[in-house]
Amino acid sequence: MQERNQPLEVIKIDEQTFRIEDNGVRSFVFIGKERALVVDTGFGEAGSVRQIAAKLTDKPVMLVITHADGDHIGGAGAFETAWMHPAEMAYYYTRSSVKNPSVSPLWEGDVIDIGGRRFEVIHIPGHTPGSIALLDRENRILVSGDTVSEACIYMFGPARNLTAYLASLEKLIKLQGAFDVIYPSHGTFPIPPEQIETVRKAALSLAAGALPPQEPPIPVPAQMYAGDGASFYF
Ligand SMILES: [Zn+2]
Repeated sequence: MQERNQPLEVIKIDEQTFRIEDNGVRSFVFIGKERALVVDTGFGEAGSVRQIAAKLTDKPVMLVITHADGDHIGGAGAFETAWMHPAEMAYYYTRSSVKNPSVSPLWEGDVIDIGGRRFEVIHIPGHTPGSIALLDRENRILVSGDTVSEACIYMFGPARNLTAYLASLEKLIKLQGAFDVIYPSHGTFPIPPEQIETVRKAALSLAAGALPPQEPPIPVPAQMYAGDGASFYF
């Protein structure tokens, strides 16, 4: 396995919100009045998101994963359980390095209340079967996982479904009146809601076979396809 040795970087967004940068992937810690919410755990090779969360807060910590790709669940074994959409569990079991990982279900529309701050679960399959976004309606923030970003989006391999992905982007566009900013897992942070439509247009071109394949700049078993403002490994 490729080593990811850059130390984790903890960046304060506000007094109750932190992002943790782990070699190109991002996790989040949201601290409420009653508990803290950790979203994703990075590669888990350069350090423990669980330990960082414990330094940031003495509140009980709940782990939610946006999806079960390896760069999001590396440190998940340090938590008592990983909350995720049930459609992600089978994939998580194949990906987790923990022998008997504990999982707990989060369904569409469930609201995670950490005390003074609430996150609504939005099921957005396509990148993976159980990918979710978290919508903080009060603060008008969408935590998007890998489904929307300005980085090249991984759309190859058995977990992906381009048709479902396009439907999920449409679903997010319908919700766009509820948020002003997107917290993505990769690339520029933060990004504007308009990036959803940018990604959707590029994904439509990809699905239509209208984007020419390019040699990928990193060793992935896929081609790169660049649209206008969004790109994919497919
Ligand atoms: Zn990722």
